[in-house]
Amino acid sequence: MEIEEIVEMDQKHFMNVYSGRYPLYVEKAEGIKLHSKDGKIYRDFLAGIGVNALGYSNQRFKEALKDQIDKIIHCSNLYYIEPQAELEKKLCKNSCYDRVFFANSGSEANEGALKLARKYFKKKGSNKFETISADKSFHGRTMTTVTATGQNKYKEPFVPLPEGFYTVPFNDLEALKEAVTDRTGAILLEPIQGEGGIYPAEKKYLEGVRKLCDQNDILLIFDEVQCGMGRTGELFAYQNYGVEADIITLAKALGGGVPIGAFMAKEEVAAAFEAGDHGTTFGGNPLATRAASEVMDIMLENNFLASVKEKGNYLRLKLDKMVAENDNLIETRGIGLMLALELGESLSAKKVTNQLFERGFLVNAVKEHTLRFLPPLVVEKEDIDLLIKNINQIITEK
Ligand SMILES: *Cc1c(COP(=O)(O)O)cnc(C)c1O
Repeated sequence: MEIEEIVEMDQKHFMNVYSGRYPLYVEKAEGIKLHSKDGKIYRDFLAGIGVNALGYSNQRFKEALKDQIDKIIHCSNLYYIEPQAELEKKLCKNSCYDRVFFANSGSEANEGALKLARKYFKKKGSNKFETISADKSFHGRTMTTVTATGQNKYKEPFVPLPEGFYTVPFNDLEALKEAVTDRTGAILLEPIQGEGGIYPAEKKYLEGVRKLCDQNDILLIFDEVQCGMGRTGELFAYQNYGVEADIITLAKALGGGVPIGAFMAKEEVAAAFEAGDHGTTFGGNPLATRAASEVMDIMLENNFLASVKEKGNYLRLKLDKMVAENDNLIETRGIGLMLALELGESLSAKKVTNQLFERGFLVNAVKEHTLRFLPPLVVEKEDIDLLIKNINQIITEK
């Protein structure tokens, strides 16, 4: 198909929710580069929104997928699935959790986690059905997860929404304490807020939240859909804090590009689910779990996570240096390779993103004045140097 034809088809037939697509006609990819049908090549510092952790050319990953396709792609959860069992074991062995359920997306993982929390208290005969989450959070696009999301623009078009959801300012323990009632069953937080503009939780805050939950019989749920799976240089973001939630949710990088989500829980909480309480057709299918299983093997070998930390620190230092040298830049935020650059009022993140696009770099204007970087975890220092050089040129010549 010609480029014009693709655009015409898409504008005619696709629901009008991504109105401003960039003129990049994805054809193929290698390393951290996306190739467009018009011959242009882009260095990808967004990685399919934090998904392509291994980049685009991991041969071992691709071969595992090919091997799995030849064996079986999908069956159903009515039967035992070997790669699913292997993935269960790897996830539990490398985390503080005992049981896992596989879904297909981050929204669905959160939806399942919230259902588990409800069931946990229902089974106890308690009326603790309410959930508190944080302002600026993002938890997904289903009715319930959009309700838990602390950004009005995502939910206003869909009122009335499911009841029992409240939000409070993030990193504000007092506000959270005040919001807790005897009906509060769950507190849902991203250890590092992603879509909200990359805001890491303070360690003291998460420690305080944990204590609050313990004292009031509340389940703590960490949404690690974006910050989990190696993004921070630890396999899970909570490992940076030493604070364990009762339930954790994963997706994005989990399958290295193959759609899969998951929620995990400690035994006592997981035990609330009884046969028939939850289920899925696609979730945890052989292809998706084989993909995630291979992703985990790769992340746990050969200093992979240590190199994420190193590259994250490298990018962070370069960004910090830019901030120190330029009055139009405010600050950098984040952990590992989940970073943001906060621009001054005079700089539009959208404009800088567009200019970077013209120069062959993909980043994301996550807020009006915030650039977000979620590169593949295999990004090289040379790529980082090139990105920084180009940002520098753009903001100094503006
Ligand atoms: C992306 C994201 C979700 C939603 O995941 P989908 O796969 O798009 O449904 C939920 N929580 C967080 C923190 C996310 O970044």
